Amino acid sequence: MDSNTGNFDSKETLFGINSRVTLCQMCSRLAEHIKFISSNIPKRFRNDPYWARPVPSFGDVNARLLIIGLAPAAHGGNRTGRMFTGDSSGDWVAKALFQTGFANTSVSRCVNDGFALNDAYITAVVRCAPPQNRPTSSEIANCAQYLRSELDLLDKTIKVIVTLGRVAFQTYCKLVDNTEIEFRHGGKFNIKDNKVLLSSYHPSRQNTNTGRLTWNMWIQVFKTARMILDSPH
Ligand code: SF4
Repeated sequence: MDSNTGNFDSKETLFGINSRVTLCQMCSRLAEHIKFISSNIPKRFRNDPYWARPVPSFGDVNARLLIIGLAPAAHGGNRTGRMFTGDSSGDWVAKALFQTGFANTSVSRCVNDGFALNDAYITAVVRCAPPQNRPTSSEIANCAQYLRSELDLLDKTIKVIVTLGRVAFQTYCKLVDNTEIEFRHGGKFNIKDNKVLLSSYHPSRQNTNTGRLTWNMWIQVFKTARMILDSPH
């Protein structure tokens, strides 16, 4: 199933992973936290129905670009049901993907907004919103099975991987058995099977509001991805 359009195709198994994800309750702390969020909705979202479940990955099932985030935000993905949708981080992701030709529009507000990825797939280290945006190591280990399955399924098409933040970088490196490289923003690493790993700071408010991650630093990551994918080899 194409997660953008809902149409079935030859890679239905990605849909299967997402189906398993949305029913997963392996991390009891996160299941409790999601319930807690739903009973403490801020005024600005009080009329919104909250998704309040594990959030599936989405995008183009034939993607050459894979983006790995950390976890759904309490009032972003956990509210809307789509990763990087309906919050400030999502605004940065959508705008950068649109400007570099990986999305059809620059705004990602809700699941029915028509926002679709082209040649890109978005996933995360954990699929349930954690307290203080900090999953524990056991929650990361629990959820790694889904990321591992996605990496297997997307292996033939993926050429560039963008990790957002140190945890996503380290989790990905561990899954592909490459633990000798160090996280830094703007890192570009040639890894096995002719793939390129680009490491970025996470576009959380904590980084974007403080200037740790500026727009120019951010968009450069996606321009680099575009350049790699557009180059002949
Ligand atoms: S974080 Fe992942 S493993 Fe844990 S409950 Fe959510 S979907 Fe399941």
